[in-house]
Amino acid sequence: MKNGENYSTNFKNYLRMQRLFKPLALIIIVITAASFTIDRDKKPGNNTTVDRKVDSLLKMMTLKEKIGQMTQFTSDYDVTGPTMRQGYKDDIKAGRVGSVFNALGTKYTRELQKLAVENTRLHIPLIFGYDVIHGYKTIFPISLGETASWDTTAIEQSARIAATEASAEGLHWTFAPMVDIARDPRWGRIMEGAGEDPFLGSQVAKARVNGFQNHQLGATNTVVACVKHYAAYGAAQAGRDYNTTDMSERTLREVYLPPYHAGVEAGAGTLMSSFNELNGVPATGNKFLLTDILRKEWGFKGFVVSDYTSVNEMVKHGIVANEKEAGELALNAGLDMDMQGAVYYNYLEKSLAEGKVTIQQIDEAVRRILRIKFELGLFGDPYKFCNEEREKNSIMTKENLAAAKEIACKSIVLLKNDHQLLPLQKNIKTLAVIGPLANDKQDLIGSWSAQGDYTKCTSLLEGIKSLLPSSTEVLYTKGCNINDDSTGYFQEALDIAGKSDVIIIAVGEAAWMSGEAASRSDIGLPGVQEQLVKEIQKTGKPVVVVLMNGRPLTIPWIAENVPAILETWFLGTRAGDAIADVLFGNYNPSGKLPVTFPRSIGQIPLFYNAKNTGRPMEPDNKYTSKYLDLPNTPQWPFGFGLSYTTFSYSDIKLDKQKIKMNEPFHISVTVTNTGKYKGEEVVQLYVRDMVGSVTRPLKELKGFQKISLKPGEAKEVVFTLTSDDLKFYDIAMKYTCEPGDFKVFVGTNSSDVKEADFILE
Ligand code: BGC
Repeated sequence: MKNGENYSTNFKNYLRMQRLFKPLALIIIVITAASFTIDRDKKPGNNTTVDRKVDSLLKMMTLKEKIGQMTQFTSDYDVTGPTMRQGYKDDIKAGRVGSVFNALGTKYTRELQKLAVENTRLHIPLIFGYDVIHGYKTIFPISLGETASWDTTAIEQSARIAATEASAEGLHWTFAPMVDIARDPRWGRIMEGAGEDPFLGSQVAKARVNGFQNHQLGATNTVVACVKHYAAYGAAQAGRDYNTTDMSERTLREVYLPPYHAGVEAGAGTLMSSFNELNGVPATGNKFLLTDILRKEWGFKGFVVSDYTSVNEMVKHGIVANEKEAGELALNAGLDMDMQGAVYYNYLEKSLAEGKVTIQQIDEAVRRILRIKFELGLFGDPYKFCNEEREKNSIMTKENLAAAKEIACKSIVLLKNDHQLLPLQKNIKTLAVIGPLANDKQDLIGSWSAQGDYTKCTSLLEGIKSLLPSSTEVLYTKGCNINDDSTGYFQEALDIAGKSDVIIIAVGEAAWMSGEAASRSDIGLPGVQEQLVKEIQKTGKPVVVVLMNGRPLTIPWIAENVPAILETWFLGTRAGDAIADVLFGNYNPSGKLPVTFPRSIGQIPLFYNAKNTGRPMEPDNKYTSKYLDLPNTPQWPFGFGLSYTTFSYSDIKLDKQKIKMNEPFHISVTVTNTGKYKGEEVVQLYVRDMVGSVTRPLKELKGFQKISLKPGEAKEVVFTLTSDDLKFYDIAMKYTCEPGDFKVFVGTNSSDVKEADFILE
């Protein structure tokens, strides 16, 4: 038998049988597909049967076909439906495209898949990718908002549902989770990630990968995850998208890399390289990132796709003279697939002929890509994700919509609640609902909302009206626009405010103000919204501000003067219902900020896990680290969020004062619900290493637990740590922990904590 004949004969038989004897073929498909389904908990790339099949196929491939597998093009997608440029179709037929993105729907993906499978010499199926970031058609809260739930089970579930819907529409691969740590809220893409903290970010990365892949690549209701944007894209200087990042290797490894690593550990099948340069080398051509760390240190076996034309952009970065060299740099660094830029497509043959890259490098990239296609079961049945029946029944189901509402409720953060203004009584006589976002739907599904249909989203006004009895009169006006300077609607707003017992004002950003290419130099409320709030506040009536936004906002006046404030991000399809539930006490808010809210843009970057400095702030000592015109403290710290009930924390108990290396130790507190409502609390644990061979942050999150308590109920919360949790990169860049004094903190947010001391021996 010739090399590869095994695969080829099987496939031809499959096609023949499908034509001649459909029912029998179906059984064979099922059996074949089942044999390609990855065992639970087996990471992609760790399957020797697949490796054998890949190798036998690879041996049959021409150079052009190999480069084809390394090439990805977007479908032209417009309002009337997807179309593909003729040239691309020819490329698919010629086996010169391995992946297509932005093509969806069972009908269209089947059509394209047919082109690949039936026309190419080796019948290699396409892999279809798409940005399914926070839901596919049922839209969940933006990722930053969802992280505020600190509920990794709920986060995993939302990714699971997104995967179920996306895969039912012919998709195999999501460009998510986005796990970039972001300490600068000017950066618009902060909304796509999990905020500022490496520990929380890693837990969320893991939950999302597990949700998408469900440990079962090849099951038709899962999609391959793509951990992005590797690496340190969120550290763009001045918060300006695509800008340079420059940092020490220690900061890179301690702060920025952990969530990518967590995604890889969870078994993500793919990674996306980022647009930015890191310490002088663009990530897409960065061997240190793509090979030394990712492959050699972390043992990643999946494939890496570039970001959109990020290979070509290395010319503009100024690291190569032309696109051909860009392709060489990328492949030599370890980049497997070129998204949209056609650099591999145009130049890689020439580069090989010139000896600038090797056939072994090309083979390895192709191997990695084919492996994922095999693991998805696409060779068994290239149309297995194109089931029209499933497509009809899986999208926006009652269950999916219910889950979207539950997760939306969990993502809301109560920032302020003076005199327990919230929850509001349901028997209010007259209620004013004001603000440019009060009856909005389009913005509420947020940026990167995939196939989300905003007309199906519940606005805040609709949510409130459907919850309140008909005896309550609900008056509405928008009051102003989100982002212009017209005050023409103010009077109408003041009129209805004057007639009402309580006023709810929904203000914030438009969805387009965060996400990609949406950095802002001023992160206050845009337009005249703050002015509107000030005017309404002058009525002296009780005012609740509902914020909707994709990033932390600087709103010092509102923080100071308005009695009740809810942070609701962009909550997705069920936004309005969820906010109404919280406003009127059907759900007691439990969200906690995954990112610091600064008082002023001048404080940025501001994050909780900062260093002490040699001159930590002393109020009466000018020559200490502070501002002349602002306190150092944030408006709201990382981990902050109130509840309608109150919780008290006991002192911390440690089972040992002296900890031995590698021996677990336990830290416990008793948390009591001291208020009137049943509520959930996220109990947070932080650690500080007092003296190190390099200085350590003032606090680092090392654990959290979300507990539920009835009024009067108390629970002991126990955390188990080992010396492993105290590791960092020491002066010699060794990942280790050093004996000495530590502090441990437990509390309701990163600044309001109890503390205790221990010694690591
Ligand atoms: C974004 C990626 C995205 C890709 C494909 C790029 O512009 O940076 O996050 O996955 O487009 O849509």
